[in-house]
Amino acid sequence: MRIGIDAGGTLIKIVYEEHGLHFKKIEYNEAEQALNWLKTTAPSADYVLTGGKAAILKEAFFPEAAVIPEFTATCEGALHLLKKAGLPHKSLLLVNIGTGTSWYKIEDGRHERILGSGIGGGTFMGLGRIFSGKADHQRLAGLAAQGNRGNTDLLVSDIYGDRSWLPSIAGQNGRQKDVEAPIDGKLTAGNFANIAGKPSEEDLMAAAANMIAETTVLLTKGAADIHHSERIYYIGSSLLGNDALKKGLLTYSRMTGLDADFIPNGEYGGAIGAYLSSWH
Ligand code: ATP
Ligand code: MG
Repeated sequence: MRIGIDAGGTLIKIVYEEHGLHFKKIEYNEAEQALNWLKTTAPSADYVLTGGKAAILKEAFFPEAAVIPEFTATCEGALHLLKKAGLPHKSLLLVNIGTGTSWYKIEDGRHERILGSGIGGGTFMGLGRIFSGKADHQRLAGLAAQGNRGNTDLLVSDIYGDRSWLPSIAGQNGRQKDVEAPIDGKLTAGNFANIAGKPSEEDLMAAAANMIAETTVLLTKGAADIHHSERIYYIGSSLLGNDALKKGLLTYSRMTGLDADFIPNGEYGGAIGAYLSSWH
C-alpha cells in the first residue's frame, strides 16, 4: 500500500488507494492521534511525504518514509488531476493558495516556481481572528459570503462621487449627479480604506476575502504576462467553502483577461504528487 502525505503549514493532506483514490484532511491539533492511528493501521505501507512539515513527520512518525520536494509534488499532482478531469494541461500557471500563495509555470510537463506571496488562506484566518475572534474556517467563510465590502473598502466611486466634505452642499449628497470616474467606479480605490464606514464582522470578512482575491489575481496577471500564459488554475484548501474568495478570483481573472478555473480536489495536489512518486 502507498500513502502520500502533504504536511503543509496549516493542514495535513493524505492520499491513499483502496478501491480507488481516497482523500483525507487533518488539522494539527488532531494530528498526533490521527498519524499514530494511521501508522498502526498501515505499518508496512510505503509512505511518501512532502510539504513544509514533511521532515518533522518523518522524524516523529514515519522514519522509513521518503520525502520529496513540495514544488515537484504539487505540480505533478495537479497535472495528474488535470489529465484525469480532461482539462487542458499543456501550458498553464498553477496558483496554490495555501497558508501563503505560490505560483508555478507548467509547460509540456516541466514546471518551475516563479513567484510567492504571503497573502493567502492564512491571511484570511488571521484577519478573521482579529475581526471576529473566530478561528473556524467555515464560519469565517460564511461571514465573508454575507458581508458587504463597501462598508470597509473605499471604492473608486466613493472618491469621485463624494461631496460629504463640502459642508455647504453636504445635505444634498445623493441629489447630485454622479461624477464620471475614468475607471469602473466599483473597483477598489483602497482596501480597508473606508474609515468613515461602520463595518460589521461580515463586512470586514468580505473585504478580507476580496483583498486576497484581488491581490492574488493582480500578481497572477503580472506573472501571466511575463510568462505568456493565459490558462490559470487555482488550487489550495483556502478555496474550500469560501465562495467570496472563489467568486473574487473568477471575477477579477475575467476582468483582466485571464482564462481561470479551479481543479476538482486541487487541494490534494501535493499529496497526490507524493503518492504518485512512489510508483518510480
Ligand atoms: P502551505 O502550503 O502554505 O504550507 P497548507 O498546505 O497547509 O500551507 P492549504 O491546506 O492548501 O495550505 O490551505 C490552508 C488554508 O485553507 C487555511 O489557511 C484556510 O484558509 C483554509 N482552510 C480550509 N479548511 C480549513 C480547516 N479545516 N482548518 C484550517 N484552515 C482551513
Ligand atoms: Mg500546501
